[in-house]
Parts: sequence; structure tokens; C-alpha cells
Amino acid sequence: MANIAFFGLGNMGGPMAANLIQAGHHVCVFDLFPAAVEKLVTLGATTAETPTLVVKDADVVISMLPAGKHVYDLYLGNNGLAEVLTAETLVIDSSTIDSATAIKTAEGLKAHNIHFIDAPVSGGVAGATAGTLSFMVGGSEQNFAVAKPFLDVMGKNIFHAGEVGAGQVAKVCNNMLLSILMVGTSEAIQLGIDNGLDPKVLSEIMSNSSGSNWTLEVYNPCPGVSEGVPSSNDYKGGFMTDLMAKDLGLAMDTAVQSNSSTPLGALTRNLYALHQKAGNGKKDFSSIFQQFSANDA
Ligand code: NAD
Repeated sequence: MANIAFFGLGNMGGPMAANLIQAGHHVCVFDLFPAAVEKLVTLGATTAETPTLVVKDADVVISMLPAGKHVYDLYLGNNGLAEVLTAETLVIDSSTIDSATAIKTAEGLKAHNIHFIDAPVSGGVAGATAGTLSFMVGGSEQNFAVAKPFLDVMGKNIFHAGEVGAGQVAKVCNNMLLSILMVGTSEAIQLGIDNGLDPKVLSEIMSNSSGSNWTLEVYNPCPGVSEGVPSSNDYKGGFMTDLMAKDLGLAMDTAVQSNSSTPLGALTRNLYALHQKAGNGKKDFSSIFQQFSANDA
């Protein structure tokens, strides 16, 4: 069993670290929020006063932090871990960040002979808790092979997308497509409702026709069409609008860097920014449906 240092014990990192403990690993944890640390300690983790002490015996370091600046600072900022990690240690960053920062972090760590992979996830808090996340990994074949047994504990589908940064690119491509499908599904269902159709009947027709997609069949945004999804629970739980807006911002940054044309991604980012500004940031991202259904009220 390995010595794992885990940084970032929020909605996602907390349950991911818990699954590693459950699998028998020795996990030393750190978060800026003491209650998050205490919760993991009750589950069998150890902790230490400073990040430097947390990584003292680490074979592997995992981070699950809010954004790119937190990741870069942890490893390469003032008192960064790069200075204290043992050569050949593997760093797995599972945060959703821009690919440019992932590459910059990998290069900075490489100068200290420390290995890095980006391994962002899909599957949300439910997937993190159940250990069924999808991991999209960017890094060398060799580092992917070393990381895989740890990722297998926290996830079900582990994909090797390419070199460092590729995991983050795969993640933003997926979430950009997901948001476009969610907006398209919402406007199509509302068009049907406005013209007298029952949204359940219309969803059934489209699910079995060429408009079929995941947001229609599995995660329908119209309240009352499907049970057990956020739209039927006042848009509580699920994947927050704030996080989708963040990921769409990362998708646009990526598109600018590669000079790619993403007109629907740009439109969808704007729609989610408006939805956020209207006070819906904490609701599930399927609540974008309310932008189309508002006239029903
Ligand atoms: P969160 O805000 O719940 O947790 C982040 C944690 O990191 C907080 O507890 C914070 O105190 C801690 N933190 C910040 N800086 C730190 C540092 N220097 N050292 C140690 N801890 C530090 O966020 P989350 O929902 O767990 O998301 C984490 C990452 O996963 C984000 O990049 C997010 O975009 C991504 N993600 C989230 C979801 C989701 O459904 N929540 C799904 C997929 C991906």
C-alpha cells in the first residue's frame, strides 16, 4: 500500500480521499478548511501542520483544487512542494484547470525530476463518492501506468488522452459539448410545450429519433419528465451552473490558444454567464431550461 498526500478535500476531493483510505492506502491530507481535514481524519487519514510535512513520506501526491493558480502555487509558488518532494515522485492533479497551466506546472516539476499528470474528472460528487469517476489523463505512458492503480480506486473509466495537458483539453471539449446539448434540448422541449405538446411525450419521441442525446434521455432539464434528476428536485444537487460557467471559460481560453472556431461554445458560455448573473449559480446546470420556460410562470 502506498503513502499518498492529498490536497483539497472539498466536495470532490473529500470523497476521493475517503475511497483511497477505504482501499487501504495511507493517506495524509491537507486543506485550508480545518473541518474538511477533521472529517477525513475520522475516516482514517493522517494530517500535518504544513504542506511540506504532509508530503514527507509521499510516493504519490494528488491535488483536487479550485483553479489553475491554486495548483501552480501549491507546487511551484513560494515554499512550493517542488522544493521538498523526492525525485521521481508522481504528482496527479485532478483539478479542472487550463491546459497551459497544467503544462507549465509539469515543466516546472520536471526541472526537479518530479513526474506530473493532469487527470481531471467527470462524474460529479455522486461519482466521487461511489468511486465511479471518469478520469481523462494527460501524461507519458509510463506515468499513466504508475497512476492507473490509484485512479482505479477512485474511478471506473480511466482514459489516456495524450501528453501532459491533453486530459484538460478532453475535459473542456466534453463539457462544452454537454452544455451545447443541454441548451439545445431545453429550447426544443420548450418549443414543443409552447405549441401544445406534453414534454414527456415529446421527450420520448425525440429520445427515439435522431435528436436523441444524453441530456434528453438521462438528464432531462424539464421538471416532471424524469425522476431522480435535478430538474425534478428544484434543480438541487448535480453539477452547479457556476462550475459549468467556469469550464466554458476554460474551453474559450483553449479555443483562443489554438485559434479554433467555437461559435456554439461561445454562445453557450454567454447564456450560462447570464444565467449565473440572474442568481442561478448554485443550481444544477440543467436549470438553463428556466431561461426558455420563464414565460410559463
Ligand atoms: P470545492 O471548492 O468544494 O473544494 C476545493 C477545496 O480545495 C476546498 O476545500 C479548499 O479549501 C481547498 N483548497 C484551496 N486551496 C488549497 C490549498 N492550497 N491547499 C489545500 N487545499 C486547498 O471544489 P470541488 O467541487 O471539490 O472541485 C474541485 C475541482 O474539481 C475543481 O477544479 C472543479 O472544477 C473540479 N470538478 C468539480 C466537480 C463537481 O461536481 N463539484 C466535477 C468535476 C470536476
